[in-house]
Amino acid sequence: MAICPKCKEEINELHFSKTKEIGGSVGLDSSNKLEFDEDYDIFEEQKSYTFRCPECNEVLFKDYEEVEEFLKNNELQQIVTEKINQIKNKNAQGN
Ligand SMILES: [Zn+2]
Repeated sequence: MAICPKCKEEINELHFSKTKEIGGSVGLDSSNKLEFDEDYDIFEEQKSYTFRCPECNEVLFKDYEEVEEFLKNNELQQIVTEKINQIKNKNAQGN
């Protein structure tokens, strides 16, 4: 279970919104009117996400990888990480 750093609620998922830029070409059609030809695929990579806490609606992340790590996070993992850090610190002091 992940904990929201803003409101401290336990959350299983985040809400996201995304924006996408659309690009393409523009020219004149047979009656000299502008004709837009949108090409969605070219700009597919430029989608940008915003990830929010479902409880407090604060923006928590804008990066996929951070979200993945955040949701994987749980108490056991935190305890293990703490222990590892303690051991590392001890070893570092020993040297
Ligand atoms: Zn929150």
